[in-house]
Amino acid sequence: MSAPTVTSVTAASPAARAGLAVGDELLSIGGQEPRDVIDFQRMTDAGDLSVLVRRAGAPLPRLVRVDKEAGEPLGVEVSSAVFDRIRTCDNHCAFCFIYQLPKGMRRSLYLKDDDYRLSFLYGNFTTLTRFTELDAERILTERLGPLFVSIHTTDPELRAHMLRNPKGATSLRWLQVLLDGGIEVHGQVVVCPGVNDGAAFEDTMAGILDVYPALASVGVVPLGLSRYSNEPDMRPHTEDEATGVLDTVHEWQRLFRKALGHRMVFAADEYYLLAGRALPPARHYEGFPQHENGIGMARAFVDSFNRPASGGPGGVRHGFFASVDAAPAEGYRASRLPVRPAGVDARAVTVLTGTYGARVLGPLVAAHPRRDITVHAVPNDFFGGNIGVAGLLTGEDVARALAGVPEGARCLLPDACLNDGRFLDGLTLADLSRPVEVVPTDGRSLRTALDGTTFRPECAA
Ligand code: SF4
Repeated sequence: MSAPTVTSVTAASPAARAGLAVGDELLSIGGQEPRDVIDFQRMTDAGDLSVLVRRAGAPLPRLVRVDKEAGEPLGVEVSSAVFDRIRTCDNHCAFCFIYQLPKGMRRSLYLKDDDYRLSFLYGNFTTLTRFTELDAERILTERLGPLFVSIHTTDPELRAHMLRNPKGATSLRWLQVLLDGGIEVHGQVVVCPGVNDGAAFEDTMAGILDVYPALASVGVVPLGLSRYSNEPDMRPHTEDEATGVLDTVHEWQRLFRKALGHRMVFAADEYYLLAGRALPPARHYEGFPQHENGIGMARAFVDSFNRPASGGPGGVRHGFFASVDAAPAEGYRASRLPVRPAGVDARAVTVLTGTYGARVLGPLVAAHPRRDITVHAVPNDFFGGNIGVAGLLTGEDVARALAGVPEGARCLLPDACLNDGRFLDGLTLADLSRPVEVVPTDGRSLRTALDGTTFRPECAA
């Protein structure tokens, strides 16, 4: 078990007044060792704390008294979200994207987590195959929700087959426990053609209605397949299959509405783009419960682009693998880049995005009064396969695309491509050959950038 290490101290905070400093390890708080930031935040929420601190160079840890009001923030950021070990996944799914990463990427990307705490903190999906009675007890006691559970199928045998783990047949019993305990849980079905689609998918919908009607929502997403997959049975959906999935989802939405009063199940935006179907209206998404999972994001983007003053989901789209590299959990839903108004910029604009994003942006830009905006669909040559989302674009792909952008044009890039300033291949904006303006991945921010407000360039050529 490692201790939380202070990475920043807020000026004039209780931590600053008590003399805590960057690099200090907080071994215990009130005599208890925090296992993760969930514990840490609960413990530091109390008034007046005694914190056992280990400081580099000091011979022994020392007890520091921190005077603070109950509920007042301690005023430190710490280096990690989980201080004991992240629970890794014991499944071997043929559709797992981690197995489809090329060799040589940074190590943290290869971590297969199956940890309910990362589900709570970052929205990662968990299969519950490593879930325990103690975990259930903690979640129910501390009311840790919402949580996100990978269902894939409600057929035990098929689920064990898909996860390549016998525990896959039984681990959904914990989903029942969580739902019975009143925890908000959102489910996910990754549809693999020829495996859990067709009749198996219908059975899963029936199983959800029958056994898990208390789920808050279920996202239906297509498997992503990179050119590094070694799984002969995995293949992308055809257009007809995508249409079939949409038809099944829409029929089940009707049945769920009749039985439960809400649609429950929602298809990923990719299905609509792949099938060439119009995106449903915003009300269809019933509050966008799986926006961060790429469900309703395209509709929300279009609406906030066309009506920037309207409400709708926040629109923040984090990069894939958002939880790796110790991303601060409390930043999960926060916009990472402030929009900085700085007057009108009259240069022509090129908007770089993934191939799916370009299909959404194309019609919006065509209808925009400015005639000097180009949408550049950046092919994902790094991963290949059917990978078309902006969140998986790498620095290498963007660099290649930039070479084709006319001199003098402003280049805009959605922030979904970056985690903590880095692309998935480890490149940063500074590695690109020209300045790129990073825009929060929502329609309102893009509209603001196009309508005359400039953003701070993130790197110098
Ligand atoms: S459960 Fe998730 S992380 Fe684990 S093998 Fe399956 S897809 Fe990969």
